[in-house]
Amino acid sequence: MRFKTFKYGIHPKDKKELSKDCLFEDMPTGEKVYIPLAQHLGTPASACVEVGDYVKVGTKIGEASGYVSCNVHSSVSGTVESFVLRENAMGKRIRHVCIANDGNYEEDFMPPLVNPTREDLIARCKDAGLAGMGGATFPTHVKLETKGEIKALIINGSECEPYITTDYRLMLDKPNEVMEGIRYIAKALDAQEIWIGIEANKEDAIRRMEEASKDDKNVKVFELQTKYPQGGEKQLIYAITKRKVPMGGLPSDLGYIVLNISTSFAMYEACALGKPSFSRYMTVSGEGVVRPANIYVRFGVPFSEIVEYLGHKDDIAKVISGGPMMGISLHSFIPVVTKGSSALLLLSEDEIRDVDPTPCINCARCANVCPMGLMPMMTDALILANKVKETKDYHPLSCIECGCCAYVCPAKRPLVQSQRLAKKLIRERKL
Ligand code: SF4
Ligand code: SF4
Repeated sequence: MRFKTFKYGIHPKDKKELSKDCLFEDMPTGEKVYIPLAQHLGTPASACVEVGDYVKVGTKIGEASGYVSCNVHSSVSGTVESFVLRENAMGKRIRHVCIANDGNYEEDFMPPLVNPTREDLIARCKDAGLAGMGGATFPTHVKLETKGEIKALIINGSECEPYITTDYRLMLDKPNEVMEGIRYIAKALDAQEIWIGIEANKEDAIRRMEEASKDDKNVKVFELQTKYPQGGEKQLIYAITKRKVPMGGLPSDLGYIVLNISTSFAMYEACALGKPSFSRYMTVSGEGVVRPANIYVRFGVPFSEIVEYLGHKDDIAKVISGGPMMGISLHSFIPVVTKGSSALLLLSEDEIRDVDPTPCINCARCANVCPMGLMPMMTDALILANKVKETKDYHPLSCIECGCCAYVCPAKRPLVQSQRLAKKLIRERKL
């Protein structure tokens, strides 16, 4: 059988066997949490608590400032101890609210919604501080407020990044809750159709979601080819509809909105339980972890505590926040869990290819796998020659930074970094 898919892409080893059978477990929270006010795309939240304030689990501690921004909530009950500058996963020192955990976990939730209207759902999403939990952290309420008719809500259940298994486990273990969250989102968008795309290597998850949605006439579950980056918004839309999002355009231009499984589950929690976004499920994996796991963890818990809890081996060669293809390499365990922390990977020497780049040999492999149809070798060469303006002819702004090109490059050219740099310079110089 031919599964639905997009053009090009790659087939990296998925390594999901390390954690796919690990049931969710609660990660204990330490004596202090450090909650960043910037953990979403857009403007950081403004602190709305002061040192000495008593907060509960779910108390708002940061107010969204501006349209593209998110509220931030406490993940423990206790006392606001200080505001500290601390490194985030990108290596930037940003403001964190340090809260001394009293261990009582007293809750300050919102009332559950009963028969909510579209407006109630969007307002709840905003109040709960939901942001895309696949890693992009785009404020969800902004997506839900999209103007124009939405024909279909597309749910990304592909979880195509190697190692990560939280969406897979959510579909297996909490399919009804995920489905309820999806229904809330569809109602908020007034979307008539719901299409759920899941890669063929998660057959059991496909069956669970089909079962959970069997009474919904407007829901279709699509079996997708197992290929990276199947979960990219544009790739997923193409796989299901065979329509291309125009260059520089958005899925909503075609009448689609894409959200993922973890975000749908967070929507269920916010609407049905009144729970603000202060925790998440996360995969901790890689050959460098003693006990790979899928954990339930509160925001503000330092990665160092996770590593201590699950144990690490001596030969860690690389640490990544997120997946190995699009995640961020870390140089310390200081960063904390945030809305976008889908995974923490501790990789051994055998799992990485850390070699120095050599000159391009013009093999065109990078162009042959690029799911956006770009020519990454040209952007790389032009950036090397400091010809920024000329890179525009090769459309670096369309690059989704999936890393397929760098993965196949025999010369190990830093192709994604070149695309990123080209984007940055084009924007900075307003070219
Ligand atoms: S150029 Fe960008 S979109 Fe194309 S393969 Fe490389 S990272 Fe992916
Ligand atoms: S894959 Fe690497 S070596 Fe081959 S053309 Fe692209 S940049 Fe050059």
